[in-house]
Amino acid sequence: MSTPRGRPLVEIETWIFDLDNTLYPASCRLFDQIHARMTDFIAELLDITPEAALTVQKTYFREHGTTMRGLMTVNRINPEDFLAYVHEVDLACVPPDPVLVNALMKLPGRKIVHTNGSQRHAERLLDHLGIAASFCGVIDIAAAGYDPKPALAGYHELLRRHEVSPGSALMVEDMARNLVPAATLGMTTAWVRNPADWAADGSNGDHIHHIVDNLGAFLAAVPGAEPCDPIQSRSMPVADTIRSKLTERFAPTGLEIEDQSHLHVGHEGARPGGETHFAVAITSAAFIGKSRVARQRLVYETLGDELATSVHALSLTTLAPGEGSA
Ligand SMILES: [Mg+2]
Repeated sequence: MSTPRGRPLVEIETWIFDLDNTLYPASCRLFDQIHARMTDFIAELLDITPEAALTVQKTYFREHGTTMRGLMTVNRINPEDFLAYVHEVDLACVPPDPVLVNALMKLPGRKIVHTNGSQRHAERLLDHLGIAASFCGVIDIAAAGYDPKPALAGYHELLRRHEVSPGSALMVEDMARNLVPAATLGMTTAWVRNPADWAADGSNGDHIHHIVDNLGAFLAAVPGAEPCDPIQSRSMPVADTIRSKLTERFAPTGLEIEDQSHLHVGHEGARPGGETHFAVAITSAAFIGKSRVARQRLVYETLGDELATSVHALSLTTLAPGEGSA
């Protein structure tokens, strides 16, 4: 049984995405091209006018769930021929979505596509959108035995193949009725709002846990997803910078750097995120014959930039080889 509100998003381990009109906006009308090619395919197959073919197409969609299913059942077509033909579309109309690209990269957990289209169509679109690297698998219509969503075949194959526990999975779809089996299996659901009748059909049920207008923004707001904080992309942690500079200047035979910022939380110079108070123990031949004060001066000179900006306090132990640390 589904729970009324689904699992908290922070507990989701597997994210399942429909492809068409979900990972890209319906407003780009890519599906119009697919739809038109379906009409062409039927007109050619049955040797009828485009108008008559469109009537067949709509009838099959209504009576068999998808046009392809109707063609397989009634006309015994090879589904691979049909899919190869209808997916030969120009993706130029699908706009880039940097918010979605970034959100998927930072979102914890596995991501899987579950589509009534073909594997090749999914791979083309994921590449076009620049999000292929975020996904670990595609369950396409062939993997579902050509039994399209909302039939259970594809959902079961996805759970089996990727060893998904439905209670920790969330499924995102623009066709509301395709979320009924997902919720019944125990998944949390998110409906990408699409006003078309065929997509919104069934969107009022309690199998819909989230309604999404912008998928990238929805995923970016998931607790646990790393925020796009410029500090996160700082070139190098302070301790690494200290290590790099001291190694280059002193060629040490011993070097220990300890970030002690956590001991100084709330004290002068402390900052959220730490990296303000360090203890450094360094052993180098460069210190032979020099006083403790002269050694420390050399270190302070080497780390002048860090001491002027990010490092508030530096506790130093400076040794020449063979000296004890006492
Ligand atoms: Mg869709």
